[in-house]
Amino acid sequence: MSTTCKAISAESIVQTLRACFPAHERLALHEPFFGGSEDAYVSDCVTTGWVSSVGAYVDRFEQDLAAYTGAKHAIAVVNGTAALHISLKLAGVQPDDEVLCPALTFVATANAISYCGAIPHFIDSESNTLGVDAGKLSDYLKDIAVEDGESYRNKRTGRTLKAIVPVHTLGHPVDLDPIIEVCERYRLELVEDAAESLGSTYKGRHTGTFGIANAISFNGNKIITTGGGGAILTDNTPLATRAKHLVTTAKQPHPWKYEHDALGYNYRLPNINAALGCAQLEKLPQLLKWKRSIYSTYQTAFSETPQVRIVGEPDSSQSNYWLNALQIQGDRSFRDAIIESAHLQGIAVRPMWSLLNTMPMYLEAPAMDLDTSERLEQQIISLPSSAILGAP
Ligand SMILES: *Cc1c(COP(=O)(O)O)cnc(C)c1O
Repeated sequence: MSTTCKAISAESIVQTLRACFPAHERLALHEPFFGGSEDAYVSDCVTTGWVSSVGAYVDRFEQDLAAYTGAKHAIAVVNGTAALHISLKLAGVQPDDEVLCPALTFVATANAISYCGAIPHFIDSESNTLGVDAGKLSDYLKDIAVEDGESYRNKRTGRTLKAIVPVHTLGHPVDLDPIIEVCERYRLELVEDAAESLGSTYKGRHTGTFGIANAISFNGNKIITTGGGGAILTDNTPLATRAKHLVTTAKQPHPWKYEHDALGYNYRLPNINAALGCAQLEKLPQLLKWKRSIYSTYQTAFSETPQVRIVGEPDSSQSNYWLNALQIQGDRSFRDAIIESAHLQGIAVRPMWSLLNTMPMYLEAPAMDLDTSERLEQQIISLPSSAILGAP
């Protein structure tokens, strides 16, 4: 039996995938690539004893990240979720505020909002960028937002609409200009979830440098990894100082006294992880080339298959192609048939994340009509994208 969609079978899609990288018998979804100074830098930490939360590699990693992205400041932290949490605090998010974010994202986006005591308010995405649909959002806010002093309130819940967290989904830059217009119109703070998009640019400028404070991730499956890690990017010097303080348990600098002047967090990135990060960052330009080449391979392979779209970078953007993906025409059962069949052949493809508004902790959260997110969730399949697959 074969499941079909407009005369194309799940098996034929999987065969095309199988033929993309014939030299690789099994295809992981995303493996890290270590091919540079990783050993040397990590050994240096062990040899010198500087493995923990203070050390030269932390400072260097932060400087290198700022230089690479063009952000004025980078603050290295334990993971991307912590980077989002602190970025939202820097943006002034308070308990009981509402923060707009896509329903189609990794759960960390909404969790970080919840850690602030705020409420995620789920908004729809569009299929070109897989990110926030600013036009639809703007129409929606005309309906539900009322001016109240300095800010706008959701007239249905009475809560302040404080910020928006767009996500650069799978590495593809979201269309930021119309989102920034919505922010200006409704006095929303912009915090980018750039966890997946290090190296991607929107109109020539790096993602993660548009919002007041923005988050990147260096988890093991991201384009570069520190084992686990993340960073906050900001151009605002007082906020950068505040961020460093908050992630260092809000301890006042002193040679021996334990004085903490706020509720802080132990969110600093250890030096040994930063050492890995310095080595990985040196490799990033090469990894970006390899990722782009993986995209071309998939694109060429499916160029004669109109029923399948390989997700490409939006106009006026350069994507890091962190995770390549295909979009099928059809429903969840067709998607699952492809995923099942691929797994049997050693090809680790994945569905998108389940929509956050369907998860038990977010069932009560406010949400707009999410019809495009619902369709994308059923139709997008992430493809094996380890950088090594694009090596010449
Ligand atoms: C990976 C990821 C995060 C969180 O990063 P961690 O380092 O895993 O905490 C947040 N948002 C998105 C969209 C991600 O993909």
